[in-house]
Amino acid sequence: MQERLEALRQMSARLEPEAGLRKEWLGLAADYAERFLESLSGRHGYVPDDRAAETALADGLREEATDLPELLEIIEHGVDRVGVNESTGHFFGFIPGSGLYHGALGDYLAAVSNRYVGVAYAGPGAVRLERQLITWMAREIGYPDAAEGDLTSGGSLGNLGAIVTAREAYGLRSRSLRDAVVYLSAQTHHSIAKALRIAGLGDVRVREVAVDERHRMSAHALEAELGRDRDAGLRPWLIVASAGATDTGAIDPLAGLADLAQRENLWLHVDAAYGGAFVLCEPGRRRLAGIERAHSIVIDPHKGLFAPFGTGLLLVRDGRALRRAYAYEADYMQDADRAGLELVSPSETSPELTRPFRGLRLWLALRLAGVGAFRAALEEKLLLARYFHEALAASPLFEVGAEPDLSIVTFWLRTPLGDEESLNEALVEAVQRDGRIYLSSTRLNGRFTLRLAILNARTHVEHVERAITTLSELGRKVLGR
Ligand SMILES: *Cc1c(COP(=O)(O)O)cnc(C)c1O
Repeated sequence: MQERLEALRQMSARLEPEAGLRKEWLGLAADYAERFLESLSGRHGYVPDDRAAETALADGLREEATDLPELLEIIEHGVDRVGVNESTGHFFGFIPGSGLYHGALGDYLAAVSNRYVGVAYAGPGAVRLERQLITWMAREIGYPDAAEGDLTSGGSLGNLGAIVTAREAYGLRSRSLRDAVVYLSAQTHHSIAKALRIAGLGDVRVREVAVDERHRMSAHALEAELGRDRDAGLRPWLIVASAGATDTGAIDPLAGLADLAQRENLWLHVDAAYGGAFVLCEPGRRRLAGIERAHSIVIDPHKGLFAPFGTGLLLVRDGRALRRAYAYEADYMQDADRAGLELVSPSETSPELTRPFRGLRLWLALRLAGVGAFRAALEEKLLLARYFHEALAASPLFEVGAEPDLSIVTFWLRTPLGDEESLNEALVEAVQRDGRIYLSSTRLNGRFTLRLAILNARTHVEHVERAITTLSELGRKVLGR
């Protein structure tokens, strides 16, 4: 047995690299990261998948060890080279991510120490650090101290948490589902419909409330729908507002919706996965006024706070509602002396137990750069969107949508001779092929629409200038001028 033990130890020795090798690996990884970051400004926003990428990963997993330089080659050619490149300043598609370097360092440190963050007892420091983030964001929103939150993996899971919390707060059970009504709009993110289904609420009635010409939910239309449903003996339950919508950045009239929710006793959830972080700057805060009256809010730090992917945040104004939804001891805990419990465990406010220490990546970035840097960057994005909107409005080539509520601008190539849809489609394809910038398209009221979303931390005025130049040049080409 002793012999076998010794043999097994030798065979598994590569699991514990010694100090010299650790240093070597770290150096190689850091060199790779530097090469990647230095190449960013020259990279296309999108590189289609290809055979070379597939071949790079063809080896699969092996019994024997492989050296790091060889693996970094695989990562470079098989992973990092293809697909959308959200990390560049000239990426304007979908909702851009950033992946701040500070965040990468946080992930490295969190993984090395592997703090257990599910239960406060196991990782009190890690839990305290994450609670700082929740408390800080809740205060920025204007929530009371009783607010509670959950650092999720993203907005979709945050929305699911909000819906589960609202379901429990209203005691919805299978027999009451068919009478319960949810109010949303055509601009609501698809993760809401998915969350309703996952939460066992596929049978509730869903009303798509009309939007105004700027794609904001109409409070008047909502009021009318609510009245009709009450008269029909139904039970209005939940309003899902967007702030801002993924397609257009439109912010629903939060104060008006909060008035209705209050008067009619509905839960108001604000999906601010994209726009929530803008409360950190003054113009954004003004535009999001009323958000503090929502019962729950989802904000994605991996969008508006530029964190690496896998960082979402659910905030619930009445923290007891969130704990009731998730803590299995909730019934007795609500009567417990809260002051005696110094720290709420993340597993009491989340479906997760063991999970990554995802707070460190955000905390480290906020501390290393300072919150002020984030406020400035967010205000910059709002201003850049206005800059782009004004430039395009002044161009004879383009027609623009309404002045942006946040940092997404919608526009169309003017096509005097008709064929609007195919020419606009041709422009998107030309832009994506050209590679100097990346943007994506959508459909608004059935109309094919171009959109420029500004949210990457590395996007500055020269990138927006590049977008204007590229679009004008390729727009003319598409029109055959
Ligand atoms: C991005 C987004 C989501 C989904 O968030 P993930 O982090 O991708 O899961 C939900 N709602 C809105 C408004 C979004 O922009």
